[in-house]
Amino acid sequence: MTGSQVQFSFSQRSEDYLKTVVPSLEAVARRALVLTRVDFTIISGRRNMAEQRRLVRQGVSRTLYSRHLSGHALDLVPLDPVTGKGRFSRDLAVEVAAAFYEAGYQLNTAIRWGGMWADFEDIPHMEIPDMSARTL
Ligand SMILES: [Zn+2]
Repeated sequence: MTGSQVQFSFSQRSEDYLKTVVPSLEAVARRALVLTRVDFTIISGRRNMAEQRRLVRQGVSRTLYSRHLSGHALDLVPLDPVTGKGRFSRDLAVEVAAAFYEAGYQLNTAIRWGGMWADFEDIPHMEIPDMSARTL
């Protein structure tokens, strides 16, 4: 570690979405922003069933049992270090996901990244999993 790491801060929009999720996920996201090498913006938090139904109809989401409904999930977009603009790049998202997993480790909170899902790759998605529904 060289000490030259850039400090990022959340936009107001990100802060507004963070207020909608459970405190343990908010804490992980804040810690991840300190740890990450790639900046990111939060673009979704808790959703109600009407919003979830609309996203499933649009094909953006596959399930009505989303962790977004209980505030245990958020979506984010990495910001391109060159342009500063949001970009749904897997390479950038991997950096952010690593920060979330490390933050979750530090805060003793299990985290799952949708980018690792085999059936429906969901790059923007981070959640605290429902451990009672755990399957491999
Ligand atoms: Zn999501």
